[in-house]
Amino acid sequence: VISFDDTAIAFRSKNNRDLNRAYWLFKLIGSPFLVKVGKWATVNALRIKLPIRGLIKSTIFRQFCGGETIQECKTTIESLANYGVGTILDYSIEGKTMESDFESTVEEIIRTIHAAEKNEAIPFAVFKVTGIARFDLLESMNAATADIGADSDSTYHSVFDRVNRICEAAYNKHVRVFIDAEESWIQDGIDRLTREMMRRYNRSEVIVFNTLQMYRHDRLDFLASELVIAQQEGFYFGVKLVRGAYMEKERFRAKINNYASPIQANKQATDQDFNAALKLLIENKEYIALCAGTHNEESSLLLTQLMFEQAIPANDKRFYFAQLLGMSDHISYNLSNAGYNVAKYVPYGPVNEVMPYLLRRADENTSVAGQTGRELSLIMTERRRRKNKINPKH
Ligand SMILES: Cc1cc2nc3c(=O)[nH]c(=O)nc-3n(C[C@H](O)[C@H](O)[C@H](O)COP(=O)(O)OP(=O)(O)OC[C@H]3O[C@@H](n4cnc5c(N)ncnc54)[C@H](O)[C@@H]3O)c2cc1C
Repeated sequence: VISFDDTAIAFRSKNNRDLNRAYWLFKLIGSPFLVKVGKWATVNALRIKLPIRGLIKSTIFRQFCGGETIQECKTTIESLANYGVGTILDYSIEGKTMESDFESTVEEIIRTIHAAEKNEAIPFAVFKVTGIARFDLLESMNAATADIGADSDSTYHSVFDRVNRICEAAYNKHVRVFIDAEESWIQDGIDRLTREMMRRYNRSEVIVFNTLQMYRHDRLDFLASELVIAQQEGFYFGVKLVRGAYMEKERFRAKINNYASPIQANKQATDQDFNAALKLLIENKEYIALCAGTHNEESSLLLTQLMFEQAIPANDKRFYFAQLLGMSDHISYNLSNAGYNVAKYVPYGPVNEVMPYLLRRADENTSVAGQTGRELSLIMTERRRRKNKINPKH
């Protein structure tokens, strides 16, 4: 039985200064009003080129990002590795539209694969298809019915070629790679591309992972049918399971365009499908590799229980848990302390370029009910424990 309440383990990589910084940050982003004002001030200060880069870098950037370059992430990678937690280097620049930028991003992702090849502390690479292709192109690709490999349009080929170059590099270097899930109106195309990559590169082990967002009510059926395809065609199925990050956007778009929302009716339904997917995957353990990308304690515990029931050792490399850097350390460090495979997404990139990512973290921590309260109360418990020099239970 794992307890996520052991704050001495949860924050053992943080000195008092780090802990205080996290305390003030989570206090600040727990307030919707301050987040609103802070976002407005930051965006405008950057726009008129006020020198606030240093301030951002030493506060919110330091909490949620590893650095501006792979090299700068070294300290974070080592600090996580000291406690058995892996790093997933996530090159987090967004919103590019130029072909040359997409090409540079492909090169950078391939550099993360090379970094992972040489370092056991980096168990996966990751990328978003919107980071390497125009959004409107992905929207039109979504509507196409043909399998992408067979599509004759040259613009689709450029997307296919970039995704293939990344997956091929991962295959050649034996590095596993996640393809992130995005908005439902581009996801069919991404799913087709990812399936094709699995066909090519997952013949003897899982290299390529798709991501399934269980806040979509169609994903459990989708998972079942993907498992059948993988088994029939003889490739391994890699999956990162998440709840999904674009709920408000999805619901809003469905409403204004008058179509049925792809999102579950409520949180309980999302939780049920997430947990049902874990069970389905465990039942198919011979053909899959799974990463549970979640900050949810119940789902994380459930996976440890399912693994136990199926006599799967905690350190079986097919099963991973992952959280975002700067969040839910109580889950990451307690799981890793109990011998499970755990990794953190470590976003990196130039400060200005990762601002959209950082603003989303602030938003998420304001909007996800209970999440910040939980982070904050754990930090407060640990501050109290250190102040009173209370010894941990173990
Ligand atoms: C390692 C990692 C990788 C990730 N990769 C991706 C990715 O590729 N694509 C992506 O979209 N997201 C990704 N995410 C984000 C993820 O989808 C969630 O937004 C986030 O982790 C919060 O969900 P949770 O399971 O951690 O926790 P919880 O706090 O238990 O769940 C919150 C989530 O539940 C769902 N939810 C909340 N309220 C409702 C409601 N009323 N009705 C229905 N559903 C509801 C939403 O998805 C919300 O984000 C990733 C997260 C992690 C940790």
